[in-house]
Amino acid sequence: MIIVLKKNHSEKIRENLLQVIQNMGGRPQLVPAGDTLSIVLGPEILVGPRIDFSTYECVSQVISTKAEYKKVARDSVDIKKSISIGSYEFGEGQFLVIAGPCAVESEEQFLQAALKIKKAGAHILRGGAYKPRTSPYQFQGLGEYGLSILAKARELTGLPVVTEVLDVRDVEKISDYADVLQIGTRNMQNFALLKEVGKTNIPVLLKRGMSATLQEWLLAAEYIAEAGNSKILLCERGIRSFDSETRNVLDLSAIPILKQKTDLPLVVDPSHGTGRKEAVAPMALAALAAGAHSVMIEVHEHPEHALCDGFQALSIDQLASLIEKLKKISEVMGLQMPSNESVLSKNILSFDKNNRMLTL
Ligand code: PEP
Ligand code: MN
Repeated sequence: MIIVLKKNHSEKIRENLLQVIQNMGGRPQLVPAGDTLSIVLGPEILVGPRIDFSTYECVSQVISTKAEYKKVARDSVDIKKSISIGSYEFGEGQFLVIAGPCAVESEEQFLQAALKIKKAGAHILRGGAYKPRTSPYQFQGLGEYGLSILAKARELTGLPVVTEVLDVRDVEKISDYADVLQIGTRNMQNFALLKEVGKTNIPVLLKRGMSATLQEWLLAAEYIAEAGNSKILLCERGIRSFDSETRNVLDLSAIPILKQKTDLPLVVDPSHGTGRKEAVAPMALAALAAGAHSVMIEVHEHPEHALCDGFQALSIDQLASLIEKLKKISEVMGLQMPSNESVLSKNILSFDKNNRMLTL
C-alpha cells in the first residue's frame, strides 16, 4: 500500500499517522518523489485491523498494491526467519547446497551417488521417486521403493532428503520418508495438493510455476501457510520464454524482489532453470550473489546414462568444484556455509578398487 501525502501537510499529523502504522506492526517508509512525499507500507499491514487511511487530513491518495497474501508476507508473525531441516537452519545468514540425481533410479545408483555427494560437501540430498514426465512413456520413477532408497541414503549419509509429491493420495506416505516435500513447477497451482501438504508439519519446497508471476507464486505459498504449515521454501527454477537455447529462463531478479515481499527462504535451481550443464555452475554462483539461501543442483555419477535430465546434470567432480567456489563467495557475502561433517552417518561404507560399494 502506498499513501500519497498532500503537498503542504502538517508534520505533526504525518508523525501521528506513522505512529498508528507502527503500532499496527507495519514498517512505514517515507519516500520522496518530486515535491511530494509518500508512505510505503509492506503488505504486512493487511494483517492488522483495516484502517481507512484516506480519512487522515494529510493524505491525498491511498494506492493499494494488491498483495493479497498475508501469512507469507514479509514481517508476518506466521513465518519464522529460518526453518530447521535436519541439523541445519535454513534461512538468513546461511547458505546450503541441495544436490542429487533427478530421479532415484536404483539402490546402487542412488546410494553411491549420495555418499559421494556428501563427500563433495552438499548439505541436503534430492531425488525423485515420483517423476512428473511430459510423456507417459518416459521413466516415471520407482514410487514407494524409491522412497525406501531415499530413507536408506539418509541413514547412510545423515543428510536430510527432499523428494517430490505429485498426488494428494501420496502425501501421507511420502511424509513418512522425506524431510522436505517438493511441489514441482507443474503443480504450483494444484490447490488440493497445496492444502494437503499444508496439513503436514514437514517443510515444503515450492517450485515456481513455469509461467507464474511472483504474486501467483506467493499466493500458492499462502495456501500452504493457510492450511497450517508455514515451513515453506520458495524455489526459482526458471520460467518459459521464447528462446529455446536454454530450457527455461532463470529469473534471478526474482530473488531480491522476493526478499522485499517475504521472509521465506529462497532456493534457486539452475539445473532446470537452464537445462544446460555448462550454465549450471555460473548461475549457481550468481544465485548466491543475488541473495539466495540455497541452490538445488542435479548431479549424476554418469550423466550420459541418467534415466532423466542427464543433459543438465553435473558430475560429482563438477559439484565438488562448484561447492568450493560457493564457499569462497559465501565468505565474501558474510554467509555461513556449514560443514556437513557434523552430520553423522550411521553406517560406514567402503568401496572396492573399481569404486563399487562393498557393504551397506
Ligand atoms: C525436479 O526437480 O526434478 C523437477 C521435476 O523440477 P521442476 O518441477 O522444476 O520441473
Ligand atoms: Mn530433473
